[in-house]
Amino acid sequence: MFVDFAYETADLEFRDELRAWLDENLSKFLADWGGDDDPGGPQSAGIARTQERRRDWQRRLNEGRWAAINWPKDWGGREASPIQNVIYSETMAKYRAPGIYNANGLWQIGPMIIAWGTEEQKNRWLPCILDASEHWCQGFSEPQAGSDLANLRTTALADGDEYVINGQKIWISTAHLAKWGLFLFRTDPDAIAEKRKHEGITAFIVDMDTPGIEVRPIKDIVGDEMFNEVFFNDVRIPADCRLGGEGQGWQVAMGTLGRERVGTAGLAITMGQDLRSMISTARACNPEALEDPDIRDRIARAWSQIELTKLLNYRALTKIIKGQKNWPEVPLAKLQWSHLAQYLAELAVDMLGPQGLLLRGATDAVDNGSWARLYSFQRYTSIGAGATEVQKNIIADRALLPKK
Ligand SMILES: Cc1cc2nc3c(=O)[nH]c(=O)nc-3n(C[C@H](O)[C@H](O)[C@H](O)COP(=O)(O)OP(=O)(O)OC[C@H]3O[C@@H](n4cnc5c(N)ncnc54)[C@H](O)[C@@H]3O)c2cc1C
Repeated sequence: MFVDFAYETADLEFRDELRAWLDENLSKFLADWGGDDDPGGPQSAGIARTQERRRDWQRRLNEGRWAAINWPKDWGGREASPIQNVIYSETMAKYRAPGIYNANGLWQIGPMIIAWGTEEQKNRWLPCILDASEHWCQGFSEPQAGSDLANLRTTALADGDEYVINGQKIWISTAHLAKWGLFLFRTDPDAIAEKRKHEGITAFIVDMDTPGIEVRPIKDIVGDEMFNEVFFNDVRIPADCRLGGEGQGWQVAMGTLGRERVGTAGLAITMGQDLRSMISTARACNPEALEDPDIRDRIARAWSQIELTKLLNYRALTKIIKGQKNWPEVPLAKLQWSHLAQYLAELAVDMLGPQGLLLRGATDAVDNGSWARLYSFQRYTSIGAGATEVQKNIIADRALLPKK
């Protein structure tokens, strides 16, 4: 099975409408906010400005009904098809559209609430995800439950019309900025000992201002604080914050993770733009590097790998359209993305010379230190969104050595 799909008239109309909207609105936004999502400066001021910029961009997207394309039309969405999702990601990447405020909320948490929430819960929470009036985080991982998420041990025990929560989460992105979080807790503490660890997990929506919650930011390798430890000490939340039934948390969480999306569709385009941009920066600040045969060879390899990534995404899309399972393309695309992200960041600093290693704030830092930041930060792609070894295990188990 290779690449085999065609755009229907509705897809082309979708693309043209999005382009027209971006032509009109993105330039206005950039005139108001400037082109840089990460302006540097003192860290807290930098993050606060980035968040406000993203909030405003999401608000504008929502006004044009371009924020939550997969949501039902009644809830501000467009019920986009898989092919339209790819068009959306690629178009946003081509326009270098800014980051959004509630990415988790729009792509994961909102769809979970739509699928599992009561009407009251939908009315209560969907609007503030969509219009970016409140920030959301997603709290799954724990110190002993990352790749093996079903090992999670933070408990939520029923007590009258409340649940009492005790335990710890870790690596929770933007929890320190969030008003709400979608969490997984264990409502059946015996399930792990009884070897049914995927059972007894329940999803809850938690007000992050509830007494007993302590959020401690973790400094990352480049000095930013964007993810957190979250501690729960006898935290009481109302029972109507439970999403789905007791014990249904695994299905609530996995339903949206397994959605038929080609999640890496726009990345090949972004990486192609990054490659072109680092070459033109190197022309200005370290031109002799571009005469080096090794660097030239690596540029050619990077370009071929980017094209390969694009084709891998199109093959996944072909399978989705034909109603087939889109793996091993999904774990392959994840591996391809993490490999290329790191390959490009290493190529950038080698191409840009010593100045390319200076971080933001340094006098001679290239592009405000963004390449140096990527060089360190892209290591995360080996573990975020599915660790490399686990993806390889999935490919081996399902594609190379499937059990009979
Ligand atoms: C930037 C970033 C943001 C994140 N944001 C969030 C968030 O908002 N919310 C949230 O809940 N979590 C978040 N996470 C956590 C992320 O989901 C976990 O880091 C991930 O699930 C891996 O878990 P772990 O860190 O416990 O590593 P582990 O699972 O302990 O893995 C450690 C190493 O062991 C390897 N390994 C694990 N299992 C196997 C196996 N069976 N066979 C072979 N090798 C194995 C892994 O490949 C890895 O190299 C974030 C992580 C990052 C990096």
